[in-house]
Amino acid sequence: MTSPYARSTAAPAGRWQDRAVCRALPPAVFDPPVGDWDAVRAAKGLCRVCPVAVTCLREAMAEEGGMGAQHRATIRGGYTPEERVAIHRTYAAARRAATPTPTN
Ligand code: SF4
Repeated sequence: MTSPYARSTAAPAGRWQDRAVCRALPPAVFDPPVGDWDAVRAAKGLCRVCPVAVTCLREAMAEEGGMGAQHRATIRGGYTPEERVAIHRTYAAARRAATPTPTN
């Protein structure tokens, strides 16, 4: 018997990118000129209503690893390259703090 929740909890079919708000927008919308804070806010606003923002951010963080902001590009998952560096550093510090130190 199929769970009554099966329909609501099943992941939608297809690639997550196909459900992205940005899929039909020019890439430049998410790569605003340095210092253009209105454009940054506009791009972040689009990400805020994107149904796949969490997946997008997770993918970006996995791809970029410990890269510096200069090696990251565009707003992804609602965060600028600099913000993603800060997220990475916060999580890396939390992981280090949670890792038991070996005792002799
Ligand atoms: S969250 Fe990611 S997939 Fe969604 S609009 Fe922003 S950049 Fe595009």
